[in-house]
Amino acid sequence: MTATLDCASLDAAGLSDWLREDDPERLHQLWARADQLRRDHVGDAVHLRGLVEISNRCVRACWYCGIRKDNHHIQRYRMTATEVVEAAALAKRLGYGTVVLQAGEDPGLSQPWVADVVQRIAGETGLAVTLSLGERKPRELQAWRQAGADRYLLRFETSDPALFAKIHPALGHSDRDRFAILAELHDLGYEVGSGFLIGIPGQSYASLAQDLLRCRDLDLDMIGVGPWLTHPDTPLGQGLVAPLAADDQVPASEAMTLKCVALLRILCPDSNLPATTALATLNGHQGREHALQAGANVVMPNVTPLQYRALYEIYPGKACVSEHAEVCAECLAGRIAKVGRTVGRGPGGRARRPPPA
Ligand code: SAM
Repeated sequence: MTATLDCASLDAAGLSDWLREDDPERLHQLWARADQLRRDHVGDAVHLRGLVEISNRCVRACWYCGIRKDNHHIQRYRMTATEVVEAAALAKRLGYGTVVLQAGEDPGLSQPWVADVVQRIAGETGLAVTLSLGERKPRELQAWRQAGADRYLLRFETSDPALFAKIHPALGHSDRDRFAILAELHDLGYEVGSGFLIGIPGQSYASLAQDLLRCRDLDLDMIGVGPWLTHPDTPLGQGLVAPLAADDQVPASEAMTLKCVALLRILCPDSNLPATTALATLNGHQGREHALQAGANVVMPNVTPLQYRALYEIYPGKACVSEHAEVCAECLAGRIAKVGRTVGRGPGGRARRPPPA
């Protein structure tokens, strides 16, 4: 093992070596380096983004996702505009600086409806507004930006085009893939977030190393990565894609997720990196703390009204599905303090370091 730990010298081979690393001392070095860079570049504040899951309706059939259109075992919902604005107001009362509106790809969330909700939230709460509504049309993305949306999250999920195509049945002909949409978002002036799944059947170490490099090349403002969690009512959950041979297949484990978070902090030192709910679902006891100690600086507590939260079942056993938002806020503040960090105030956007003089 000769892999080094700085951004300039980490190449695909070095990243693959780190992803395969299991020596505790070497891993300790990895966490320590990521934690140091996190402290130097984004500080000790952990930014809280209140997540509102505004609709579980979806026209897509992603092979990993429990709210895919072909899953007829779930009850569908779409929140009203008033409910969404009230959830944002709750996020504000809880001291969060940002609200994230997330949904399946739901055309019922029309361009004017979303624009109106964004405008109301921005006007009434002053919170930064992040949207995560899937692959939407350029004119919709533009209208929402004009209405006051600050950020947009769209994971590329995997940078391997063949694997992506296999697990994302196309809706019809489209001339723009997710990378093209990420470029559009950037041009529209959004802060852009993306990321990938870890341990999807068919994902090799070489492919995961490319995912990491892709995040660096895209110069992302936010990068969310999490383990693939099995949902029984999905094609991946039912084993429709065979895993690779054991020494090539990436495991969907906590350790692999933490390695990705730490390597991302090294590759993209000033990006915002969340400790994801998927990781907290794998390890409810300490998953979030481990991520915060391996380079993460953001947490997204759920402020979706309780009657909807369990219905947004992208995977089973999702963390914090039945806690009141107030309880989540208190629990997270305790976890953040326990690892010696502070709760961030304000919107917590990406603070780019000025270019060298
Ligand atoms: N429709 C939007 C989109 O596709 O970007 C946002 C909603 S989608 C449910 C949000 C994220 O959930 C996806 O980017 C995906 O990475 C994650 N996700 C879905 N199913 C998952 C699973 N079984 N395990 C882990 N993450 C999952």
